[in-house]
Amino acid sequence: MKAQVAEAILRAQNILVISHKDPDGDAIGSILGLTWALRKIGKRVYPACPDAVPEIYAFLPGSNEISPLSATTQDLIVTLDGSDATRFGDCFAAELVADFTVVSIDHHVTNTRFATVNWVGPTYVATCEMIFDLLPFLGVALDSRIATCLLTGALTDTRGFRTSSTTPRILKVAAELVEAGAPLAEITDQVFNNHALKSLQLWGKVIESMDFSGGLLWATNTVAMRRACGVDRTATNGVVNVLATAREANAAILFTERDDDKIEVSMRSRPGYNVADVAFRLGGGGHPQAAGCTVDGPLRQAVGRVLAEVRASFDG
Ligand code: 5GP
Ligand code: MN
Repeated sequence: MKAQVAEAILRAQNILVISHKDPDGDAIGSILGLTWALRKIGKRVYPACPDAVPEIYAFLPGSNEISPLSATTQDLIVTLDGSDATRFGDCFAAELVADFTVVSIDHHVTNTRFATVNWVGPTYVATCEMIFDLLPFLGVALDSRIATCLLTGALTDTRGFRTSSTTPRILKVAAELVEAGAPLAEITDQVFNNHALKSLQLWGKVIESMDFSGGLLWATNTVAMRRACGVDRTATNGVVNVLATAREANAAILFTERDDDKIEVSMRSRPGYNVADVAFRLGGGGHPQAAGCTVDGPLRQAVGRVLAEVRASFDG
């Protein structure tokens, strides 16, 4: 598969590299890691994402070049870290597969194989790890810039190499990335120890809202709460992981009310409790221990519906 992906990439000259809505470290890290790699072999690369780069990833080289582009004159689209065509918002539409060669590089078990060439690797802990594996096939030597981008995705998708998805292999890859010049401690500080005070205020409100029943812990993040703290939706990135530390919880679920009345659902679970299946059934996707979806509001009904689905999924 790697060879097929590399072949499609090497044949192209103008390449749109896209990742998903509400980008995380693996989305931004894989866009930029691949962008710098392809530029080293003379490709013209357009890094794209439907949403703005969160401030905590602005330190990554090239982050200022990422914009909400969609394909026009390019001869290849590469989608990263997204399991279905809707994940890329206005940057991509499923119909584009008719007119463009589309390469999907993704590590989600829920991937729908929406592209022309689908490299789906659920055993990889991050899409950035897949890019690392692709480099020799592209004839690209690792350098400190690429390594910094790729280590960021590996770090954020494993929450600092602490998740159950963490493999011996990613630790070896991380060692190589650090050897190549990726500053592990600096990246860790940038992505994990970098919350605005008003974000933590919102975390306080979210944690105060939590509720617990039958092994499920859930909390809400409403438009009104964010308005009161003067922050946007990205301010709660990470709080679901705090909820998931509750000793009593098998799974933690954060419900984020958007201003268009849709509800974003973010789920974390302990090994033995799979949330990817239920997220997929609800129109989303993810990994066994970290998954998400977007459902219709209003909030109270969404909470009831999703909790019932999660319970049914765990019981079944
Ligand atoms: P998070 O809760 O951190 O936003 O997402 C956890 C995991 O689920 C990530 O791997 C993310 O890509 C995936 N995910 C979150 N929301 C959605 C969604 O609406 N659709 C799909 N397909 N995956 C999602
Ligand atoms: Mn990822």
